[in-house]
Amino acid sequence: MNISFDNTDNAFAYKTAKELRMSKFLFKTMGYPFFVPIGTRITPFLMKTGLPIHGLIRKTIFKQFVGGETLEETTEVVNTLGKYGVQVILDYGVEGKEGEENFEKATEEFIRVINYAATQTNIPFISIKVTGLARFGLLQTLDESPRLRSGVHDHEDEMDEWDRVRDRMYRICEVASEKNIGVLIDAEESWIQDPVDRLTMEMMEIFNKEKAIVYNTIQLYRHDRLHFLQLSHRIAKQQNFILGLKLVRGAYMEKERARAVQKGYPSPIQVDKAATDTDYNTAVVYCIDHISEIAVIIASHNEASNLRAFDLMKERGLSPGHQHVHFSQLYGMSDNITFNLAKAGCSVSKYLPFGPIRDVIPYLMRRAQENSSMSGQTGRELMLIKRELKRRTAS
Ligand SMILES: Cc1cc2nc3c(=O)[nH]c(=O)nc-3n(C[C@H](O)[C@H](O)[C@H](O)COP(=O)(O)OP(=O)(O)OC[C@H]3O[C@@H](n4cnc5c(N)ncnc54)[C@H](O)[C@@H]3O)c2cc1C
Repeated sequence: MNISFDNTDNAFAYKTAKELRMSKFLFKTMGYPFFVPIGTRITPFLMKTGLPIHGLIRKTIFKQFVGGETLEETTEVVNTLGKYGVQVILDYGVEGKEGEENFEKATEEFIRVINYAATQTNIPFISIKVTGLARFGLLQTLDESPRLRSGVHDHEDEMDEWDRVRDRMYRICEVASEKNIGVLIDAEESWIQDPVDRLTMEMMEIFNKEKAIVYNTIQLYRHDRLHFLQLSHRIAKQQNFILGLKLVRGAYMEKERARAVQKGYPSPIQVDKAATDTDYNTAVVYCIDHISEIAVIIASHNEASNLRAFDLMKERGLSPGHQHVHFSQLYGMSDNITFNLAKAGCSVSKYLPFGPIRDVIPYLMRRAQENSSMSGQTGRELMLIKRELKRRTAS
């Protein structure tokens, strides 16, 4: 079967004309040069002042990118997507809450999300940030110290603290394994990634013996990650487990480059976008070429990368719904990719965050920033929405 990401009829069938007009308004507004820089600065401040802007945010940007304020509220979106063959990755979107009590609460919430996912037909995965379970400073210390990296801890308190993080992750993965729900571990800043990778590999070794339950995330905007992918594959083969991988380009580019300059070390980021694209597409080919040993999630809004993966599956004679290949885009973006892949029989999902408005503000600000440049996929998004509105008026 051939696929076209231009088909707006498939892409937006789940939206009413009113909802589409709101999306058009939002994407247009985010494209005004001064709106996002100012908006992202004042919104967190306005939220703290207690001014009644909740309602406005909820009806606009929140509705576009988030599934609801509670787990139960996501049901409506989950069911709607399900009608079009689109699955869901549930993301409990609370960020930056530190403290042992909050980490325990988050662990319980992740387990609740897994139990909920198991009652639905179209939620095969949940996603987790290790910073939701562990102190950022601890992860940074573990990342920096080669001695700690070898497993030898020189500080009792930190050793106990890390054991508690491992225990939290173990509890989450254990329930996920029992309920047959995949756990995707997000990648964050490079300076905390090493302990995250180690923990994820450890969990894969335990839970991925028969099928992929735990997935690590590879950020191909880092120039060392293709090598890391191959190394992970070698370890998985040696230890006899299925390697679960989510492939992304990476969301923290400016922050990474700025820190490298400030601290005077070579930037971990590729020299340019073309180099990121090349490594991303090479990683896709590598995974599909080893598809019996690697379960891969192509997590991207890049049409060329999605098309490459789709065509490659065809070339290699894999069915579009192969159990080791999954596609995913963020909720509120790139419906033309998601819904057309679903129509072609692929296993594809929307990454759907949920949480109280004040807690998902950092996520919303990242989406606003990502969509503020009218070049690339965002400009295309707006053009496709306009085209669909025109098509509906004409028909
Ligand atoms: C389902 C899903 C899950 C995700 N999970 C994570 C996660 O766990 N961790 C994470 O970090 N991100 C995650 N992301 C975000 C992702 O990393 C990207 O920021 C986003 O998807 C944009 O990349 P793209 O592949 O969609 O396409 P494109 O729009 O083609 O690529 C944009 C990306 O290319 C890279 N890039 C842009 N300019 C340059 C340059 N000059 N030099 C080098 N590289 C450049 C950047 O990574 C930028 O984000 C996720 C995205 C999705 C869809």
